[in-house]
Amino acid sequence: MFTMNVDIAIVGAGPAGLCLARALAETGLSLLLVEQQPLDVLREPPFDGREIALTQQSVRMLRELGIWQRVESTDVSALRSARVLNGCNTRGLRVTPDESHEEELGFLVPNDRIRRAAFVSIEHEPRVTLMCDTSVEGLMLPRDSAQLRLSSGEHITARLVIAADSRFSRLRREAGIEAQMHDFGKTMLVCRMALEKSHHSEALEWFGHAQTLALLPLRGNEASVVLTLQPHHLQRVMALDELAFNADMERRFGHRHGAMRLVSTRHAYPLVGTYAHRFVAHRFALAGDAAVGMHPVTAHGFNLGLRGVETLARLLAEVAASGGDIAADRVLRRYQHLHRQATWPLYAATAAIVKMYTNDHPAAHIARHALLQAARALPPVRQIIASALAARGVETPAWRHHRS
Ligand SMILES: Cc1cc2nc3c(=O)[nH]c(=O)nc-3n(C[C@H](O)[C@H](O)[C@H](O)COP(=O)(O)OP(=O)(O)OC[C@H]3O[C@@H](n4cnc5c(N)ncnc54)[C@H](O)[C@@H]3O)c2cc1C
Repeated sequence: MFTMNVDIAIVGAGPAGLCLARALAETGLSLLLVEQQPLDVLREPPFDGREIALTQQSVRMLRELGIWQRVESTDVSALRSARVLNGCNTRGLRVTPDESHEEELGFLVPNDRIRRAAFVSIEHEPRVTLMCDTSVEGLMLPRDSAQLRLSSGEHITARLVIAADSRFSRLRREAGIEAQMHDFGKTMLVCRMALEKSHHSEALEWFGHAQTLALLPLRGNEASVVLTLQPHHLQRVMALDELAFNADMERRFGHRHGAMRLVSTRHAYPLVGTYAHRFVAHRFALAGDAAVGMHPVTAHGFNLGLRGVETLARLLAEVAASGGDIAADRVLRRYQHLHRQATWPLYAATAAIVKMYTNDHPAAHIARHALLQAARALPPVRQIIASALAARGVETPAWRHHRS
């Protein structure tokens, strides 16, 4: 039986696992990244429908990691303003970056392009060993090491295991960590469409009757169209042929954008939010969606994942530089404290927003209307929304100190 020893084993080469490997690559620690998908999928991930709205803070972090520079400029779309509509009210609340002193609210990048750029950034790193086509099937956490059992029959011994294996994390369960899970009972359809009328780089979030719509502005007057419905209704929309689908979307968007034409594959995601009760255990930590799996409506899942990567990498790099124990309880608990502080308010607020905005009761409709009116009338409320979208108040990413 083959056994390998490393300092840190990261499970899952999704965006969070890849960014974490990149952030730790120059700490001098030996890293192993285990991923169940094959190497060619990591090199050229297929389009998965997700256009990730990155905050200014996330872009700065990705730049510090040398990942942003590997994203083609043609894959980046600027998000200059956002409009929130409630029911038949066609004006709603408009959020612009003026209030947050940035030129854009953020940037949209396809998820597969982020994954690709992050993979390229670690592919030839000498301190990172990559094991693809291999899933982790068991985790043991005895006193003096952490051990993984792989689908290949191999065993890994690590000083620390970090699970970045999705919101349905198998390792979280194996580590005995409970998670709060909320099934929203809805499915989200995402695809790209070409629009007849300009979107003016404005995102639209529209809470209508029994459906939620979003339109994210992309280059070339295309848009990412997001439709949230009950699963059985969504299945019917997924099954429509292209012409019928185009007509259905034009109708749902109230013909605001003129003719709409499907230009990509369609993808459906069941909406389940998760929040782990603990982010760490003995010689074990959770990262990315495995720690916090956000509802996509506030577009913060990967943004928060990156925050966690930054926090964890900074703490581990500091300990490694001083020759301390990277898996010390004190270090892991500090990560847990900081990352819970950074994520819980947004997780709870998102859950409240989803509850309020997907409730079709007339009272909920009135409450939404009142909230939007208040935000329009009170600049500070609008400013809070703009600041949240642009995630201002950034501290210097820690890995800057470890890169030449
Ligand atoms: C429709 C939609 C829109 C979104 N929009 C936004 C947005 O605008 N902004 C934003 O910030 N976020 C957004 N998100 C959230 C974002 O996509 C996620 O937060 C992000 O992908 C999580 O990355 P991750 O690496 O933690 O997990 P994942 O992407 O789920 O990756 C987990 C990896 O672990 C691997 N794995 C799992 N189990 C094992 C195992 N046992 N052994 C080995 N490997 C394993 C998987 O193969 C996978 O590669 C959106 C999500 C959805 C669904």
